Amino acid sequence: MTDFSVFTAPGINALHPYVPGKPIEELERELGLSGTIKLASNENPLGPNPLGREAAAEAIAGINLYPDDSGYRLKAKLAHRYGLAPEQLVLGAGSSDVIAMTARTFLAPGRSAVFSRYSFAMYPIYTTAAGAECRVADALSPDDDGMPYGHDLDAMAKLVDESTRVVFIANPNNPTGTWLQTEALYRFLQALREDVVVVLDEAYTEYVTEADFPDGVAWLGDFPNLIVTRTFSKIYGLAGLRIGYGMAGAPLIDLISRVRQPFNVSLPALAAAEAALDDGDFLQRSRENNDQGLKQLAAGFDALGLAHIPSVGNFITVDLQRNGGEIYQKLLEKGVIVRPVANYDLPDHIRVTVGTEAENRRFLEALQEVLAA
Ligand SMILES: *Cc1c(COP(=O)(O)O)cnc(C)c1O
Repeated sequence: MTDFSVFTAPGINALHPYVPGKPIEELERELGLSGTIKLASNENPLGPNPLGREAAAEAIAGINLYPDDSGYRLKAKLAHRYGLAPEQLVLGAGSSDVIAMTARTFLAPGRSAVFSRYSFAMYPIYTTAAGAECRVADALSPDDDGMPYGHDLDAMAKLVDESTRVVFIANPNNPTGTWLQTEALYRFLQALREDVVVVLDEAYTEYVTEADFPDGVAWLGDFPNLIVTRTFSKIYGLAGLRIGYGMAGAPLIDLISRVRQPFNVSLPALAAAEAALDDGDFLQRSRENNDQGLKQLAAGFDALGLAHIPSVGNFITVDLQRNGGEIYQKLLEKGVIVRPVANYDLPDHIRVTVGTEAENRRFLEALQEVLAA
């Protein structure tokens, strides 16, 4: 028998596929449960963006046609919103698609990418898939009282050398929820060689209400090597449609767009995203629900004597001081799906997405029961 693993491209055999949150349908099928809740993938608990949902439903009538490959209307709208030229935008099937395109454009065997420990699981996958080397910087100490487990920008800068072509930074970071403040991040970018591309992954930026929080888009004029990625999957509530975007100087976008698959963003997704941008009310409600939910969960963890990592995202990662995988399993049996984070090097933590008030309450009650058992 032919062993095809001998013939794979560099990096492929070393890959471990991304493990997504468990779908509700799968859990209910396996355990014969109903009424389960999923707080596992940082999806919007208020449902889909209403304007986006309506636009997608209308767009379905035209799906015999390919979508507009240039994304003309959505790009025009985003460009107007951010004060950019349309040539400064690239659209993706989720922002992960844009991150993957950037990796594909600049990484190869003999090159390296730098990112932090406990950061987004796709960075090592895209780096390894390109045959490049992962340089993983130590995070801030768990005992740091400011930002435990957060990105240590000095440690990251030290790992950059001539082989480094890409640095990945998630702000806020997933799965920790930690964040970088304006001045520290700006100084990091200033000190970095201009031929190293920085992917500033802002998937959760619309949730952040902290005063000192950077807006990467405002810095695009200062840093031609910066690409900022954002998504419609999180606060816009359109994760199932797969749409996100990247913003950078036009020359960088031109290069990255060369590896984009034709028609990578579907017709309903384009329509939904365009409409969703007008739904300020939904955004506001989502942000308020999140702020209250973060407080509710934090108070719940305090009451259970559990330490959590400070978060400005739509999720919190909590230290259970025992095996998180086991607690995850027991929560599943109670119809509550959260995210184990052992694959992020956090075996004693679980990550929970902020749900509605009732979902958060149900999760906290289930957690209390499981921990007491
Ligand atoms: C969710 C997430 C993304 C984006 O996911 P898409 O659905 O592909 O847009 C990107 N980065 C981080 C850190 C995330 O958590």
